[in-house]
Amino acid sequence: MKLTGHLLIGADEVAATEGTLKALNPATNQTIEPDFALGGAAEVNRAATLADEAFDHYSHTSLAERSAFLERIADNLDAVTAELAARAALETGLPEAQLQGEVAKAATQFRQFADVVRKGRFLHLAIDPAQPERQPRPRMDHRLQKIAIGPVAVFGASNFPISYSVAGGDTASALAAGATVIVKAHNAHPGASEIQARAILKAVQDSHLPAGVFSMVRGAGNAIGEALVDHPLIKAVTFTGSEQGGMALYRRAQLRPDPIPVFTEMTSVNPTFILPQALAARGAQIGDGFVERMLVNVGQACLKPAILIAVEGEGFAALRAAMIKRVTDAPARPMLTPGIQGAYLKNLDHLQSAGASLVAVGAVAHAELDGRSGLLEVDGQRFLDEPALADEVFGPAALLVKVRDEAQMLAVARAFRGQLSATLHLEDADLALARRLLPILERRTGRIVVNAFAHPQEVSFATIHGGPFPASSDSRFTSVGMTSIERFLRPITYQGFPDGLLPEALRELNPLGLPRSVDGQ
Ligand code: NAP
Repeated sequence: MKLTGHLLIGADEVAATEGTLKALNPATNQTIEPDFALGGAAEVNRAATLADEAFDHYSHTSLAERSAFLERIADNLDAVTAELAARAALETGLPEAQLQGEVAKAATQFRQFADVVRKGRFLHLAIDPAQPERQPRPRMDHRLQKIAIGPVAVFGASNFPISYSVAGGDTASALAAGATVIVKAHNAHPGASEIQARAILKAVQDSHLPAGVFSMVRGAGNAIGEALVDHPLIKAVTFTGSEQGGMALYRRAQLRPDPIPVFTEMTSVNPTFILPQALAARGAQIGDGFVERMLVNVGQACLKPAILIAVEGEGFAALRAAMIKRVTDAPARPMLTPGIQGAYLKNLDHLQSAGASLVAVGAVAHAELDGRSGLLEVDGQRFLDEPALADEVFGPAALLVKVRDEAQMLAVARAFRGQLSATLHLEDADLALARRLLPILERRTGRIVVNAFAHPQEVSFATIHGGPFPASSDSRFTSVGMTSIERFLRPITYQGFPDGLLPEALRELNPLGLPRSVDGQ
């Protein structure tokens, strides 16, 4: 596919109005052709107007039609796997084979959502039939379904350039809900973004849907993102990135005359607790596995296990030695962008100024944007005294927290802010301590993992990828998994409607054969 670098606003190829940018190959620190157009508020307005015009048609597509559209997107992604993975590898420095897996994951998500749509449970259909004889007051017929919230703005992530980007879970779940979508592409992978956008737009065209169902814009600086969040026709926003960026957009949306939901997924250190018997039994093995997972994606992953907590005692020396060895042996690999590399180095310094000691570093970096891995260590008391030690370092570094006893382990668990996940390594003899940790962790995290690591991520009905602030801005929702569709739905009641005026899913004879609750049964 020849990349044009245009903004893709519905069916329109739109040239630059605010300059251009080139992608950067982080492995060489050289720019890559072609030029990519940058737009501004005028392009956001054009895309939002189209998305609004397309909304009534798209949100009323039949479940069969919408499922077929989502499956077409999946097929189109499959068809561009090789070139998409190759371009994404050039733009991110991530391994091509891993990125092929990401394309497959993205296509699978669209197919999973097609199935969700076809089965119709997401509509949450509920019928409370009329009770004209009820005393002291008759009841009118009430019927509820969920409908799409309106046009959605998606801020693609930098770190998973396909499965959390233009054709990622946010876009898939919003389209499944019946919402029209405008993606603000991340400037770190503009070519990969264009290939994904074209796969979606081709499905829009082949499904004979209005062109405004999907658009992709791109801009320089904050102006384009701000214009999207401010636009009166946008009704919800999703974001994956930094706490600073996510909260700036969240606050902005709350200042609109009509505040809208902003679902942000921001920062998490995914604390890992090794309980004493597990430490004694397999400290070295856990330390090795922890660092291996920490290094995935050069440490640039939301589920990176970043902080490991263990009681100094039997097995601790073996754990520490295994972690040091793994970190020391790790080759330096390119980080996603100069900005992320700069933040990584700054945050490593920040942890050391807060009292952590650097106890191991990885192999020397060869390329300019390479990230060299690191292991830091601190004792439990210092960790409790200095909240900055619990901050995320986005990159290939981890912190080992040595606690003096079980009481201090519980205190450290209480010190964490909201997390996407927490992990416990335990043996049967550790269950009593695990039971004391659980209520503390349940209040602070969206997922608790036992004797494994939270990464990689399942995409299923029971998946939660979210958690209390600052892991996300709304702990009631997930940004990954089948229930992520809930972010883009709202309930509506039809009261006293004649059958012929009701949405098909709510008609008396249940012509679509969908699961419905009647009088709560
Ligand atoms: P980012 O700087 O927060 O940017 C994410 C997206 O939001 C970009 O498209 C960015 O546009 C836009 N944006 C950010 N702040 C904005 C604002 N105030 N107004 C309007 N638009 C705004 O995140 P990033 O580029 O992915 O990486 C930077 C940091 O994010 C990392 O160092 C890491 O700490 C964090 N991160 C965390 C996770 C996680 O899951 N925990 C994942 C990815 C990144 P521009 O690029 O044009 O500014």
